[in-house]
Amino acid sequence: MNERELLMIPGPVAFDPAVLRALSAPSRSHVSPEFIATFGNVLRQLRQVCLAPSAQPFVVAGSGTLAMEMAVANLVEPGQHALVVNTGYFSDRMGMLLERHGAQVTHLRAPVGDAPTAEQLRAALTERPYAVVTLTHVDTSTGVRAPVKALLEALRGTGVLSIVDGVCATAGEEFRQDDWGADVYLTASQKAVGVPPGLALLTVSPRAIEAWRQRKTPVRSLYADFGEWLPIHEAYAAGRPAYFATPAVNLVCALEVSLGQILAEGMERRFARHREMARAFRAAWAAMGLELVPRSEELAANTLSALRLPEGVDGALLGRIRDEGVVVAGGLHPELKARSFRVGHMNAITPADVLATVGAVERALVRCGMKLEPGVGVAAAQRALLS
Ligand code: PMP
Repeated sequence: MNERELLMIPGPVAFDPAVLRALSAPSRSHVSPEFIATFGNVLRQLRQVCLAPSAQPFVVAGSGTLAMEMAVANLVEPGQHALVVNTGYFSDRMGMLLERHGAQVTHLRAPVGDAPTAEQLRAALTERPYAVVTLTHVDTSTGVRAPVKALLEALRGTGVLSIVDGVCATAGEEFRQDDWGADVYLTASQKAVGVPPGLALLTVSPRAIEAWRQRKTPVRSLYADFGEWLPIHEAYAAGRPAYFATPAVNLVCALEVSLGQILAEGMERRFARHREMARAFRAAWAAMGLELVPRSEELAANTLSALRLPEGVDGALLGRIRDEGVVVAGGLHPELKARSFRVGHMNAITPADVLATVGAVERALVRCGMKLEPGVGVAAAQRALLS
Protein backbone atom coordinates (compact mmCIF):
# COMPACT_ATOMS: atom_id res chain seq x y z
CA MET A 1 0.00 0.00 0.00
CA ASN A 2 1.18 3.50 -0.79
CA GLU A 3 1.37 5.27 2.57
CA ARG A 4 0.98 8.66 0.90
CA GLU A 5 -2.44 7.81 -0.52
CA LEU A 6 -5.02 10.37 0.53
CA LEU A 7 -7.84 8.57 2.35
CA MET A 8 -11.09 10.37 1.49
CA ILE A 9 -13.72 7.78 2.39
CA PRO A 10 -16.52 8.52 4.87
CA GLY A 11 -14.65 6.74 7.67
CA PRO A 12 -12.22 5.70 8.75
CA VAL A 13 -10.66 9.02 7.80
CA ALA A 14 -7.06 10.26 7.78
CA PHE A 15 -5.91 10.73 11.37
CA ASP A 16 -3.66 13.36 12.89
CA PRO A 17 -0.12 12.12 13.65
CA ALA A 18 -0.40 13.22 17.31
CA VAL A 19 -3.51 11.04 17.67
CA LEU A 20 -1.69 8.08 16.13
CA ARG A 21 1.29 8.63 18.42
CA ALA A 22 -1.01 8.44 21.46
CA LEU A 23 -2.36 5.17 20.10
CA SER A 24 1.11 3.66 19.80
CA ALA A 25 2.30 4.68 23.29
CA PRO A 26 2.81 1.83 25.80
CA SER A 27 -0.56 0.73 27.21
CA ARG A 28 -1.34 1.99 30.70
CA SER A 29 -3.14 0.09 33.43
CA HIS A 30 -6.83 0.89 33.14
CA VAL A 31 -6.89 1.63 36.87
CA SER A 32 -3.73 3.77 36.98
CA PRO A 33 -4.12 7.37 38.21
CA GLU A 34 -2.91 8.60 34.79
CA PHE A 35 -5.55 6.65 32.86
CA ILE A 36 -8.30 7.56 35.32
CA ALA A 37 -7.42 11.23 34.78
CA THR A 38 -7.46 10.73 31.00
CA PHE A 39 -10.84 8.98 31.08
CA GLY A 40 -12.34 11.67 33.31
CA ASN A 41 -11.04 14.35 30.95
CA VAL A 42 -12.45 12.55 27.91
CA LEU A 43 -15.90 12.53 29.51
CA ARG A 44 -15.73 16.28 30.10
CA GLN A 45 -14.43 16.89 26.57
CA LEU A 46 -17.17 14.77 24.99
CA ARG A 47 -19.87 16.84 26.70
CA GLN A 48 -18.29 19.97 25.27
CA VAL A 49 -17.99 18.57 21.74
CA CYS A 50 -21.65 17.52 21.75
CA LEU A 51 -22.65 20.85 23.36
CA ALA A 52 -24.35 18.72 25.99
CA PRO A 53 -23.32 20.07 29.42
CA SER A 54 -26.13 18.20 31.16
CA ALA A 55 -25.56 14.81 29.49
CA GLN A 56 -24.03 11.62 30.83
CA PRO A 57 -21.30 10.51 28.43
CA PHE A 58 -20.40 6.86 27.74
CA VAL A 59 -17.16 5.72 26.12
CA VAL A 60 -17.21 1.99 25.37
CA ALA A 61 -15.04 -0.28 23.21
CA GLY A 62 -16.96 -1.13 20.06
CA SER A 63 -17.96 0.40 16.74
CA GLY A 64 -20.79 2.78 15.92
CA THR A 65 -23.23 -0.11 15.68
CA LEU A 66 -22.61 -0.82 19.37
CA ALA A 67 -23.42 2.81 20.16
CA MET A 68 -26.69 2.39 18.25
CA GLU A 69 -27.42 -0.87 20.08
CA MET A 70 -26.66 0.65 23.49
CA ALA A 71 -29.13 3.47 22.84
CA VAL A 72 -31.84 1.08 21.70
CA ALA A 73 -31.22 -1.65 24.30
CA ASN A 74 -31.46 0.82 27.17
CA LEU A 75 -34.31 3.04 26.03
CA VAL A 76 -36.76 0.61 24.48
CA GLU A 77 -38.73 -2.14 26.16
CA PRO A 78 -40.34 -5.08 24.36
CA GLY A 79 -43.71 -4.20 22.86
CA GLN A 80 -43.13 -0.43 22.82
CA HIS A 81 -43.60 1.53 19.61
CA ALA A 82 -40.60 3.12 17.93
CA LEU A 83 -40.55 5.41 14.91
CA VAL A 84 -37.56 5.48 12.58
CA VAL A 85 -37.20 8.70 10.59
CA ASN A 86 -35.59 6.92 7.68
CA THR A 87 -33.02 8.55 5.41
CA GLY A 88 -31.14 5.45 4.23
CA TYR A 89 -29.14 2.35 5.04
CA PHE A 90 -28.20 3.32 8.59
CA SER A 91 -31.78 4.23 9.46
CA ASP A 92 -32.72 0.73 8.27
CA ARG A 93 -30.07 -0.64 10.62
CA MET A 94 -31.60 1.30 13.50
CA GLY A 95 -34.94 -0.33 12.63
CA MET A 96 -33.32 -3.79 12.72
CA LEU A 97 -31.80 -3.10 16.13
CA LEU A 98 -35.13 -1.84 17.49
CA GLU A 99 -36.88 -4.99 16.27
CA ARG A 100 -34.14 -7.17 17.74
CA HIS A 101 -34.82 -5.53 21.12
CA GLY A 102 -38.53 -6.19 20.89
CA ALA A 103 -39.89 -2.83 19.70
CA GLN A 104 -42.77 -2.46 17.25
CA VAL A 105 -41.17 -0.42 14.52
CA THR A 106 -42.71 2.02 12.06
CA HIS A 107 -40.61 3.74 9.39
CA LEU A 108 -41.29 7.29 8.23
CA ARG A 109 -39.55 7.12 4.86
CA ALA A 110 -38.62 9.63 2.21
CA PRO A 111 -37.51 8.87 -1.34
CA VAL A 112 -33.77 8.22 -1.70
CA GLY A 113 -31.95 11.55 -1.43
CA ASP A 114 -34.73 13.20 0.54
CA ALA A 115 -35.63 13.41 4.24
CA PRO A 116 -38.96 13.44 6.08
CA THR A 117 -40.02 16.90 7.23
CA ALA A 118 -40.97 18.10 10.70
CA GLU A 119 -44.62 18.36 9.53
CA GLN A 120 -44.56 14.72 8.41
CA LEU A 121 -43.07 13.74 11.76
CA ARG A 122 -45.76 15.69 13.66
CA ALA A 123 -48.44 13.88 11.66
CA ALA A 124 -46.82 10.47 12.23
CA LEU A 125 -46.65 11.07 15.98
CA THR A 126 -50.44 11.26 16.17
CA GLU A 127 -50.81 7.71 14.86
CA ARG A 128 -49.37 5.73 17.80
CA PRO A 129 -48.04 6.33 21.31
CA TYR A 130 -44.36 6.15 20.38
CA ALA A 131 -41.82 5.66 23.15
CA VAL A 132 -38.85 6.52 20.95
CA VAL A 133 -38.08 8.30 17.68
CA THR A 134 -34.75 7.74 15.94
CA LEU A 135 -33.05 10.15 13.56
CA THR A 136 -29.91 9.66 11.47
CA HIS A 137 -28.11 13.00 11.48
CA VAL A 138 -26.16 12.19 8.30
CA ASP A 139 -26.98 8.96 6.52
CA THR A 140 -23.67 7.87 5.04
CA SER A 141 -25.36 5.84 2.31
CA THR A 142 -27.19 8.82 0.78
CA GLY A 143 -25.16 11.80 1.99
CA VAL A 144 -28.43 13.25 3.30
CA ARG A 145 -28.30 15.43 6.39
CA ALA A 146 -31.71 15.22 8.05
CA PRO A 147 -33.14 18.50 9.37
CA VAL A 148 -32.50 17.31 12.94
CA LYS A 149 -33.08 20.66 14.63
CA ALA A 150 -36.59 20.97 13.16
CA LEU A 151 -37.33 17.28 13.71
CA LEU A 152 -36.29 17.53 17.38
CA GLU A 153 -38.42 20.66 17.69
CA ALA A 154 -41.41 18.59 16.55
CA LEU A 155 -40.76 16.19 19.45
CA ARG A 156 -40.60 18.92 22.10
CA GLY A 157 -43.26 18.55 24.75
CA THR A 158 -44.44 15.17 23.43
CA GLY A 159 -42.59 13.07 26.00
CA VAL A 160 -41.19 10.89 23.21
CA LEU A 161 -37.49 10.09 23.64
CA SER A 162 -35.15 10.88 20.74
CA ILE A 163 -32.09 8.94 19.61
CA VAL A 164 -29.87 10.70 17.08
CA ASP A 165 -27.25 8.70 15.17
CA GLY A 166 -24.35 11.11 14.78
CA VAL A 167 -21.80 8.56 13.54
CA CYS A 168 -21.19 10.46 10.29
CA ALA A 169 -21.83 13.91 11.76
CA THR A 170 -20.51 14.44 15.29
CA ALA A 171 -17.75 17.06 15.47
CA GLY A 172 -18.35 17.97 11.81
CA GLU A 173 -22.00 18.99 11.47
CA GLU A 174 -23.55 21.59 13.74
CA PHE A 175 -25.33 19.87 16.62
CA ARG A 176 -26.35 21.38 19.95
CA GLN A 177 -27.65 18.50 22.02
CA ASP A 178 -28.90 20.40 25.07
CA ASP A 179 -30.35 23.36 23.14
CA TRP A 180 -31.99 21.18 20.51
CA GLY A 181 -33.31 18.73 23.11
CA ALA A 182 -31.89 15.41 21.88
CA ASP A 183 -31.98 12.60 24.41
CA VAL A 184 -29.23 10.38 23.04
CA TYR A 185 -26.55 11.50 20.63
CA LEU A 186 -24.42 8.57 19.60
CA THR A 187 -21.31 8.34 17.51
CA ALA A 188 -18.12 6.43 16.85
CA SER A 189 -14.46 7.35 16.89
CA GLN A 190 -13.45 6.88 13.25
CA LYS A 191 -15.02 9.82 11.43
CA ALA A 192 -15.09 13.50 12.35
CA VAL A 193 -14.13 12.59 15.93
CA GLY A 194 -10.72 11.76 14.48
CA VAL A 195 -9.65 8.50 16.19
CA PRO A 196 -9.15 5.07 14.58
CA PRO A 197 -12.16 2.73 14.70
CA GLY A 198 -12.99 1.02 17.98
CA LEU A 199 -14.90 3.39 20.28
CA ALA A 200 -18.64 3.77 20.70
CA LEU A 201 -19.52 7.17 22.17
CA LEU A 202 -22.83 8.36 23.57
CA THR A 203 -24.09 11.41 25.41
CA VAL A 204 -27.36 10.73 27.22
CA SER A 205 -29.77 13.34 28.61
CA PRO A 206 -30.89 13.25 32.27
CA ARG A 207 -34.43 12.51 30.97
CA ALA A 208 -33.22 9.43 29.10
CA ILE A 209 -31.23 8.22 32.12
CA GLU A 210 -34.40 8.60 34.19
CA ALA A 211 -36.42 6.67 31.58
CA TRP A 212 -33.80 3.90 31.74
CA ARG A 213 -34.07 3.86 35.56
CA GLN A 214 -37.85 3.46 35.30
CA ARG A 215 -37.64 0.38 33.03
CA LYS A 216 -39.90 -2.49 33.94
CA THR A 217 -37.80 -5.12 32.18
CA PRO A 218 -34.04 -5.75 32.31
CA VAL A 219 -31.81 -4.59 29.47
CA ARG A 220 -31.33 -7.64 27.28
CA SER A 221 -27.60 -7.24 26.75
CA LEU A 222 -25.12 -7.24 29.60
CA TYR A 223 -22.36 -5.48 27.66
CA ALA A 224 -24.71 -2.74 26.43
CA ASP A 225 -26.43 -2.14 29.78
CA PHE A 226 -26.13 1.42 31.15
CA GLY A 227 -26.43 -0.30 34.54
CA GLU A 228 -23.00 -1.87 34.09
CA TRP A 229 -21.32 1.19 32.60
CA LEU A 230 -22.80 4.05 34.62
CA PRO A 231 -20.99 3.24 37.91
CA ILE A 232 -17.70 2.89 36.01
CA HIS A 233 -18.12 6.22 34.27
CA GLU A 234 -19.18 7.92 37.51
CA ALA A 235 -16.12 6.50 39.27
CA TYR A 236 -13.72 7.63 36.53
CA ALA A 237 -15.34 11.08 36.49
CA ALA A 238 -14.74 11.27 40.25
CA GLY A 239 -11.11 10.14 39.86
CA ARG A 240 -11.63 6.64 41.31
CA PRO A 241 -10.68 3.30 39.72
CA ALA A 242 -13.47 0.93 38.68
CA TYR A 243 -13.91 -2.08 36.44
CA PHE A 244 -16.66 -3.70 34.44
CA ALA A 245 -14.96 -4.60 31.13
CA THR A 246 -11.46 -3.56 30.09
CA PRO A 247 -11.56 -0.15 28.40
CA ALA A 248 -9.72 0.30 25.09
CA VAL A 249 -6.98 2.21 26.91
CA ASN A 250 -4.91 3.24 23.89
CA LEU A 251 -7.96 4.40 21.95
CA VAL A 252 -9.15 6.41 24.94
CA CYS A 253 -5.70 8.08 25.19
CA ALA A 254 -5.91 8.86 21.47
CA LEU A 255 -9.45 10.21 21.97
CA GLU A 256 -8.19 12.63 24.61
CA VAL A 257 -5.71 14.04 22.08
CA SER A 258 -8.27 14.29 19.29
CA LEU A 259 -11.03 15.84 21.42
CA GLY A 260 -8.40 18.28 22.72
CA GLN A 261 -7.59 19.30 19.14
CA ILE A 262 -11.29 19.62 18.29
CA LEU A 263 -11.95 21.86 21.29
CA ALA A 264 -8.81 23.91 20.60
CA GLU A 265 -10.20 24.62 17.12
CA GLY A 266 -13.56 25.44 18.72
CA MET A 267 -16.90 23.93 17.76
CA GLU A 268 -18.16 26.97 15.84
CA ARG A 269 -14.99 27.21 13.75
CA ARG A 270 -15.02 23.46 13.19
CA PHE A 271 -18.63 23.47 11.98
CA ALA A 272 -17.80 26.43 9.70
CA ARG A 273 -14.69 24.73 8.27
CA HIS A 274 -16.68 21.60 7.42
CA ARG A 275 -19.33 23.81 5.77
CA GLU A 276 -16.71 25.66 3.72
CA MET A 277 -14.87 22.54 2.55
CA ALA A 278 -18.18 20.89 1.60
CA ARG A 279 -19.24 24.01 -0.31
CA ALA A 280 -15.98 23.92 -2.30
CA PHE A 281 -16.52 20.23 -3.11
CA ARG A 282 -20.09 20.90 -4.21
CA ALA A 283 -18.96 23.74 -6.45
CA ALA A 284 -16.45 21.37 -8.05
CA TRP A 285 -18.98 18.55 -8.54
CA ALA A 286 -21.45 20.95 -10.17
CA ALA A 287 -18.76 22.35 -12.48
CA MET A 288 -17.80 18.79 -13.52
CA GLY A 289 -21.44 17.87 -14.18
CA LEU A 290 -21.64 15.40 -11.29
CA GLU A 291 -25.00 15.05 -9.57
CA LEU A 292 -25.37 14.74 -5.80
CA VAL A 293 -27.69 12.07 -4.39
CA PRO A 294 -29.29 14.55 -1.92
CA ARG A 295 -32.11 16.38 -3.65
CA SER A 296 -31.15 19.83 -2.43
CA GLU A 297 -28.16 21.76 -1.13
CA GLU A 298 -30.03 22.09 2.17
CA LEU A 299 -30.07 18.28 2.55
CA ALA A 300 -26.47 17.73 1.44
CA ALA A 301 -24.16 16.73 4.28
CA ASN A 302 -21.02 18.69 5.01
CA THR A 303 -19.17 15.53 6.04
CA LEU A 304 -19.39 13.63 2.76
CA SER A 305 -20.59 13.88 -0.82
CA ALA A 306 -22.67 11.02 -2.23
CA LEU A 307 -22.57 11.35 -6.02
CA ARG A 308 -24.23 9.60 -8.92
CA LEU A 309 -21.86 8.11 -11.47
CA PRO A 310 -22.18 10.11 -14.69
CA GLU A 311 -23.65 8.54 -17.82
CA GLY A 312 -21.16 6.23 -19.52
CA VAL A 313 -18.89 5.88 -16.47
CA ASP A 314 -18.96 2.71 -14.35
CA GLY A 315 -17.53 1.55 -11.01
CA ALA A 316 -14.05 1.34 -12.59
CA LEU A 317 -13.88 5.05 -11.75
CA LEU A 318 -12.95 4.23 -8.15
CA GLY A 319 -9.84 2.31 -9.20
CA ARG A 320 -8.87 5.15 -11.54
CA ILE A 321 -9.22 7.69 -8.73
CA ARG A 322 -7.02 5.48 -6.56
CA ASP A 323 -4.45 5.32 -9.36
CA GLU A 324 -4.41 9.12 -9.05
CA GLY A 325 -3.47 8.82 -5.35
CA VAL A 326 -6.84 9.32 -3.64
CA VAL A 327 -9.10 6.67 -2.09
CA VAL A 328 -12.85 7.28 -2.26
CA ALA A 329 -15.72 4.89 -1.47
CA GLY A 330 -18.24 3.03 -3.60
CA GLY A 331 -22.01 3.18 -3.25
CA LEU A 332 -23.71 1.63 -0.22
CA HIS A 333 -27.44 2.25 -0.50
CA PRO A 334 -29.06 -0.79 -2.15
CA GLU A 335 -30.88 1.42 -4.69
CA LEU A 336 -27.71 3.30 -5.62
CA LYS A 337 -24.96 0.81 -5.01
CA ALA A 338 -23.59 0.33 -8.52
CA ARG A 339 -24.47 3.83 -9.69
CA SER A 340 -22.90 6.02 -7.05
CA PHE A 341 -19.70 6.79 -5.19
CA ARG A 342 -18.90 8.69 -2.03
CA VAL A 343 -16.20 11.13 -0.98
CA GLY A 344 -15.66 11.75 2.73
CA HIS A 345 -14.65 15.25 3.82
CA MET A 346 -14.34 15.41 7.56
CA ASN A 347 -12.01 15.74 10.53
CA ALA A 348 -8.78 17.57 9.66
CA ILE A 349 -9.85 18.29 6.05
CA THR A 350 -8.04 21.29 4.51
CA PRO A 351 -8.25 23.21 1.21
CA ALA A 352 -5.21 21.20 0.08
CA ASP A 353 -7.20 17.96 0.50
CA VAL A 354 -10.13 19.44 -1.41
CA LEU A 355 -7.99 20.44 -4.38
CA ALA A 356 -6.02 17.16 -4.43
CA THR A 357 -9.23 15.13 -4.35
CA VAL A 358 -11.08 17.18 -6.94
CA GLY A 359 -8.02 17.03 -9.19
CA ALA A 360 -7.79 13.23 -8.87
CA VAL A 361 -11.52 12.77 -9.59
CA GLU A 362 -11.24 15.09 -12.57
CA ARG A 363 -8.26 13.21 -14.09
CA ALA A 364 -9.93 9.85 -13.43
CA LEU A 365 -13.16 10.99 -15.14
CA VAL A 366 -11.20 12.13 -18.19
CA ARG A 367 -9.32 8.81 -18.26
CA CYS A 368 -12.70 7.03 -18.07
CA GLY A 369 -13.70 8.81 -21.27
CA MET A 370 -15.84 11.65 -19.89
CA LYS A 371 -15.72 14.81 -21.96
CA LEU A 372 -14.47 17.32 -19.44
CA GLU A 373 -12.33 20.42 -19.71
CA PRO A 374 -9.38 19.63 -17.40
CA GLY A 375 -9.32 22.09 -14.53
CA VAL A 376 -13.00 23.10 -14.40
CA GLY A 377 -13.59 21.28 -11.12
CA VAL A 378 -10.38 22.49 -9.53
CA ALA A 379 -11.09 26.08 -10.64
CA ALA A 380 -14.61 25.98 -9.19
CA ALA A 381 -13.33 24.60 -5.89
CA GLN A 382 -10.59 27.21 -5.85
CA ARG A 383 -13.12 30.03 -6.44
CA ALA A 384 -15.34 28.70 -3.64
CA LEU A 385 -12.37 28.48 -1.26
CA LEU A 386 -11.44 32.09 -2.06
CA SER A 387 -14.95 33.51 -1.75
N1 PMP B 1 -24.45 5.10 11.50
C1 PMP B 1 -23.91 5.78 10.50
C2 PMP B 1 -24.57 7.03 10.04
C3 PMP B 1 -22.74 5.32 9.90
O1 PMP B 1 -22.18 5.99 8.90
C4 PMP B 1 -22.13 4.13 10.37
C5 PMP B 1 -20.84 3.60 9.77
N2 PMP B 1 -20.51 4.00 8.53
C6 PMP B 1 -22.75 3.47 11.42
C7 PMP B 1 -23.90 3.98 11.97
C8 PMP B 1 -22.20 2.19 11.96
O2 PMP B 1 -20.95 2.39 12.52
P1 PMP B 1 -19.85 1.24 12.54
O3 PMP B 1 -19.54 0.86 11.15
O4 PMP B 1 -18.71 1.91 13.26
O5 PMP B 1 -20.44 0.11 13.33
